[in-house]
Amino acid sequence: MRILIVEDEVKIANAMKRALELQKYAVDVAYDGHVGSDLAIGEKFDLIILDLMLPGIDGVTLCKKIRDEGIHTPVLMLTARGQIADKVIGLDVGADDYMVKPFSFEELFARIRALVRRPVTVQEPVLKIRDLTLDPTAFKVKRDGKTMNLSTKEYALLEYLMRNKNIVLTREQIVSHVWNYDADILPSTVEVHMKHLRDKIDTPFPQQLIRTVRGRGYTIGEE
Ligand code: CA
Repeated sequence: MRILIVEDEVKIANAMKRALELQKYAVDVAYDGHVGSDLAIGEKFDLIILDLMLPGIDGVTLCKKIRDEGIHTPVLMLTARGQIADKVIGLDVGADDYMVKPFSFEELFARIRALVRRPVTVQEPVLKIRDLTLDPTAFKVKRDGKTMNLSTKEYALLEYLMRNKNIVLTREQIVSHVWNYDADILPSTVEVHMKHLRDKIDTPFPQQLIRTVRGRGYTIGEE
């Protein structure tokens, strides 16, 4: 899951980034509306957290711009206390939800979980492929009833694969969903993490669920 934070208050932005990274999201931050707009339109995110008052382009204009570009990524608008009328405007221009600052991280996580689940068509909360299960709420992965200890990246990789089961995902798609914009990506990065993931969730078991599709990418499935 990849999240874009557009927030000019550096302390708030960075605190959110850290908290969300601990929750295993890949996070990019833009500190003004112009950079936010470039990233939101040029890159692919699963969620955009958008502050209302921003230098450059304000949150409402930015949200409208994103929607006009045909981007339907869920937008969570942040507003300061007292900007009641603005909240309504935010929802009018296509924001999906709003939160009043200051907020607790618990509230933030809950809103995010609700938003990122919404566009995924009536998907069961726990992802399952044969004896492999991934619980996105608890960040728990089990195979054959045993809990798997995955790193943040291995978990994110597996979640992305499982949410797209039986679909071949290219390295580029994997990088853009699992790593954030600033991350150092070597050509071998995906392979290395994929190997570690397989060593844990596939190799010790009789049936291999992740497949490499030569020249194309990776897929997970029941086949
Ligand atoms: Ca602001």
